[in-house]
Amino acid sequence: PSSSTIALRSFARRAVKRRQGRGLVMLDRHEVARLGILRNADLDAIWPLLVACPVRELGTGDLLLARGEPNDTMYLLLSGALEVRLERTPEPVARLDAGESVGELSVIDDTPASAYVLATSPSRLLAVQQEIFWLLVRSSHVFAQNLLVLLAHRIRATNSTVARTAAQKEKAERESLVDELTQLQNRRWLEETGTRLAQRLLHDGAALSLLLFDLDHFKRVNDTYGHLVGDRVLRQVAELLRFKLRPSDIGVRYGGEELLVLLPNTPLVGAQIAAERMRRYIAELHTRTEGEPLPAVTVSVGVAQLRAEEALLVAVGRADEALYRAKHAGRDRVEVAT
Ligand code: GH3
Ligand code: MG
Ligand code: MG
Repeated sequence: PSSSTIALRSFARRAVKRRQGRGLVMLDRHEVARLGILRNADLDAIWPLLVACPVRELGTGDLLLARGEPNDTMYLLLSGALEVRLERTPEPVARLDAGESVGELSVIDDTPASAYVLATSPSRLLAVQQEIFWLLVRSSHVFAQNLLVLLAHRIRATNSTVARTAAQKEKAERESLVDELTQLQNRRWLEETGTRLAQRLLHDGAALSLLLFDLDHFKRVNDTYGHLVGDRVLRQVAELLRFKLRPSDIGVRYGGEELLVLLPNTPLVGAQIAAERMRRYIAELHTRTEGEPLPAVTVSVGVAQLRAEEALLVAVGRADEALYRAKHAGRDRVEVAT
């Protein structure tokens, strides 16, 4: 066993003694295994940390967290149910069942609780204090990964809460960096973050290539099948780009039916291969889509690599010229910028 494993074991022995000394109940492994944040985690490896966490019991109506109060604990709900409210009285904004957790945001950034959390039935919670929380993050990649997923859900939930009124929704859209229809980054993201990313890569001497996709005869697709089918095609193509490329590649909705992909650390040759692969995938898309049949579509693609000292949008312009050539050469093909 490594020295960190040994350290964890002695930590655990002390924790178990403390737990017994305080007359605390032992942890039920089956209950722990059902916690979402520990999904797929190696429980044996982190058990020493888990048994060091006290179990809190709440009765119906008991308050766990109060908005504005400091909180240094993430609570994992072993059994029972909780409600999250923004004010003490009105409607809950969320309900939490066994397996879910709460409080991680204040643990991460040392901010007070952002809502009231109370038990709606007798509940048992595993209280993971800050010190142990960070030990879990450091010793279990799976825990850290689950935590990222949880945070992503929280952000989305917050976004939808915030976007309640029409005015707020409009504002959120204006300030958003993600395109609603395709879930790709939007033009604003490209001009702000994309530009910075490009400068950073150039500065580090790394390559950045661009693929500019334009759907062929897309007006015809809309005219023949309707705008809603057109939208579905666009969404499916975008999804393909998001899932078939590398996780580090970034898709952007550049225009209506023009999609741009940034390929960090990829020189022109690799980009050309990726473009050709995606072109073929897209041409076959209609044969693999489930549900309502999708019309067959093709794309033309322009490929360019960012040059030293070149602005990102200038390189996009060169990709666009290559795309124009692909259109004129008969569409459904890839052309490389000169
Ligand atoms: P090509 O690019 O092959 O030259 O022909 P095209 O018909 O695709 O070219 P054009 O640029 O003339 O038309 C683009 C069409 O894309 C027109 C527009 O209705 C459609 N389009 C753009 N954005 C959307 C969208 O969000 N949803 C749908 N359904 N259609 C869109
Ligand atoms: Mg177009
Ligand atoms: Mg087009």
